[in-house]
Amino acid sequence: MAQAKKALVKTSRKQNGRSAPRASVKSYNNYIGGKWVPSESGEVSENMNPADTRDTIGRFPLSTSEDVNAAVNAAQEAFDRWRHTPAPRRAEILFRLGEILIRNKDTFTADMTREMGKVLKEAGGDVQEAIDCTYYTAGEGRRLHGFTTPAEMPDKFAMCVRQPVGLCGLITPWNFPMAIPSWKLIPALICGNTVVLKPAEDTPLSTYNLVKACEEAGIPPGVVNLVTGYGEPAGAAMTNHPALRLISFTGSTETGRQVASACAERNAICSLEMGGKNAIIIMDDADIDLAIEGALWGAFGTSGQRCTASSRLIVHKKVYKKFSQQLVERTEDLRIGNGADPKTDVGPVINAAAVEKIMGYIDIGQNEDGAALACGGKRLTRGDYANGYFIEPTVFTDVAPDMRIAQEEIFGPVTSVIPANSLADAVKIANGVRYGLSAAIYTRDVNRAFHAMNEMYTGICYVNASTIGAEVHLPFGGTKATGNGHREAGTQVLDIFSEWKSIYVDYSGKLQRAQIDEVKL
Ligand code: NDP
Repeated sequence: MAQAKKALVKTSRKQNGRSAPRASVKSYNNYIGGKWVPSESGEVSENMNPADTRDTIGRFPLSTSEDVNAAVNAAQEAFDRWRHTPAPRRAEILFRLGEILIRNKDTFTADMTREMGKVLKEAGGDVQEAIDCTYYTAGEGRRLHGFTTPAEMPDKFAMCVRQPVGLCGLITPWNFPMAIPSWKLIPALICGNTVVLKPAEDTPLSTYNLVKACEEAGIPPGVVNLVTGYGEPAGAAMTNHPALRLISFTGSTETGRQVASACAERNAICSLEMGGKNAIIIMDDADIDLAIEGALWGAFGTSGQRCTASSRLIVHKKVYKKFSQQLVERTEDLRIGNGADPKTDVGPVINAAAVEKIMGYIDIGQNEDGAALACGGKRLTRGDYANGYFIEPTVFTDVAPDMRIAQEEIFGPVTSVIPANSLADAVKIANGVRYGLSAAIYTRDVNRAFHAMNEMYTGICYVNASTIGAEVHLPFGGTKATGNGHREAGTQVLDIFSEWKSIYVDYSGKLQRAQIDEVKL
């Protein structure tokens, strides 16, 4: 790998104000046109371990519009060759990519825990999701189905085929640093597009690992281009770039809105996966022990930093007291620590800004009239926690549905228990937020389960399971402020990364005018 130009190191959001050991910090580069190159400016930022910010993982380029331009040019150059490569051949390369990901799963998992903080088991799940997505989507290389349909005139054939969109810009967040890039990258590639990929500045290593694997699999130069760096300027340079026909974005609703506006200005296609405020309903007939397991996993897995996190637990009043007590006891037993320690249940949050935001919401919750801080609520700063971003898993009880902690996405280990009078009341509360990603209900009554499945206005719904657990062969995405109508994963993602072309073949040998000529029977 080429060495970065004279590195000008800028402060990363993960920086804790403490100095990192300077020796042997590896430098990484952008991947443009099949070459690993430093950013034009030579500026880099340091990627740190959120469990211990003295541990510097590597230096990554801080890219600007110049780097984005170079990456887009490379994608343009590669596009014709790649789209003319038959889809089953593209698939063969992607199957090779799947094998490489499997071979490196343990290394990629450890890298991810180190840079993102989630516990090893969950990081392994993130890598596995990329593997699943790669195999499932590569299989589409021999399908990519279009359709035929009768034409309204005689001796005329009608069919519909998929064509690639063109050059795609992919912008991804830090919480699933390999899974989410793969959800976008692999479908884009199987459809014949070329891409520029920008991962979150906080977690570039996992995406670097994915792109490095693409290189090893033999994806031709220029088909996949990686630029690292901040949303401003690198991400914004992508959303404004006239040659990027599509921007696929996952991140916060606020940034998504900016991305959508920039795309609207230049008539680019834009698919958005954004925030959530997901609810589990626990009915009075539920298996409470099972519901507690689901609530703990949903609320505190990945330290609550999942778009599908169970940040609201809506509990029928008849079991409210029992559920709340049990939940608090179990939450207090969770082990907080470095995700690399197999005994850890809850790892750190991503960076100092996240600590500030989450602690801000804990303050807000404590000041909301009626809500009770039932457990947690503190940042841990001593001993093993001194150099990381650790927050206690936190439960608020007696939360009213309209309180800010019950309405806004906190994206941390904080959940709110909300009492409900009936199923109808619970569903109304579940739907009463601006987001619509995932929802769940615990009940033993099939009628209640179906009522909830039908009435909860979300893109994903679970029965007797937490709000977390999507599988790659089903569509993923949400309603309202969570998305803009698209779905990733499943075969539905192909509708993002390909466009339909309707083709009419008239073999009558004469002019036939649809809607005008009368067809004689
Ligand atoms: P952000 O919106 O802050 O960032 C997402 C990505 O956008 C990052 O790569 C970021 O770069 C980039 N970005 C920031 N500003 C701009 C800009 N002006 N133009 C273009 N790109 C920009 O989200 P987070 O990374 O904090 O991720 C957390 C959010 O993602 C949560 O709201 C969560 O719910 C949501 N999410 C949604 C999912 C879904 O499928 N619905 C799945 C996972 C997460 P950088 O960070 O490097 O500055």
